[in-house]
Amino acid sequence: MTPPLKQFGTSINCMDGRVQLPVIEHMRTKYGLDYVDMVTEAGPIRILSESRESAIAESIRSRVAVSITKHNSELITVVGHYDCAGNPIERDAQLGQMRTAIRVVESWNSNAQVIGLWVDKSWAVHEIE
Ligand SMILES: [Zn+2]
Repeated sequence: MTPPLKQFGTSINCMDGRVQLPVIEHMRTKYGLDYVDMVTEAGPIRILSESRESAIAESIRSRVAVSITKHNSELITVVGHYDCAGNPIERDAQLGQMRTAIRVVESWNSNAQVIGLWVDKSWAVHEIE
């Protein structure tokens, strides 16, 4: 008997160690996932919104593609957070970047759903429309 398939999700997250576990826990709890593949950079929403043609953005895209194709992920989160060293601007400006970054990730044409997550100063996770 084959074991039941494990469900994977994908997160384009900041490298900041404070946001890994909150994002994983949110995605596992809300979406019933078993595992979250982490694609991390310093301030990824800044990279995707301001430098979408860059080598680093291509690196993000190719790693997300592995998660989609090899782990059948159907959900991608794009994360911004309080006190981001790689993206030291206020929340509202980050949310603007996040909306652009979501559209960039959607343009990669996987069938996965793409949503934004904001991690606040208490390290609580909020979904962004
Ligand atoms: Zn950060």
